[in-house]
Amino acid sequence: MALEDIKAQVAKAEADAGRAPGSVTLIAVSKMQPDARVEAVLDAGHRVFGENRVQEAAGKWPGFRDRYDGIELHLIGPLQTNKARQAMELSDAIHSVDRPKLAKTLARLAQEMGQCPDLFIQVNTGEEPQKAGILPADADAFVAECRALDLPVQGLMCIPPVNEEPSLHFALLAKIAERNGLGGLSMGMSGDFERAIALGATHVRVGSAIFGARETG
Ligand SMILES: *Cc1c(COP(=O)(O)O)cnc(C)c1O
Repeated sequence: MALEDIKAQVAKAEADAGRAPGSVTLIAVSKMQPDARVEAVLDAGHRVFGENRVQEAAGKWPGFRDRYDGIELHLIGPLQTNKARQAMELSDAIHSVDRPKLAKTLARLAQEMGQCPDLFIQVNTGEEPQKAGILPADADAFVAECRALDLPVQGLMCIPPVNEEPSLHFALLAKIAERNGLGGLSMGMSGDFERAIALGATHVRVGSAIFGARETG
């Protein structure tokens, strides 16, 4: 199945970049995929998945968690503050921390719940008005603000503009992470995960290359 090909390509990209085997986590992005395809990937032994909507994740993953051990679920899409609690209950990591209001809400809930998923700060590296993410110029201050709130920030995430060479954006994200002492880099999708790994990605988010084209809706 495609999963095996993608795993092999991840391993090759790690080796080509002189990185340790297994240093990159492959997040299989299952949004808008039929359950049968997700089950096939679970049955093949994969356990790390990504969803971009809380509601869809809530409908799908508690049932899979009942049936399969060791699932790790990453929320990678924009998060509204009124869904933050549900997102924290459902997921092991949130990749879309992108504004002070959300950071404050997550911090308050983390206090209350006594736990918090791993967090990634989304950076709008292309400075696109319609796209979520903190602007590169504001990233250092926002990382500091999240740390002051005791949030478990593991790294940074970006989604490069569709019509630009993604490597420039991956390199920028890596630079911002490095100067802030952050080890995690969530970058790279179906079309560019090998380039992201070459530039230091620790988490690649691959959907259609594993599962096939998504159902529209
Ligand atoms: C859908 C999605 C992906 C996966 O996209 P593919 O091109 O199917 O690999 C990765 N990251 C985010 C944030 C997404 O929403």
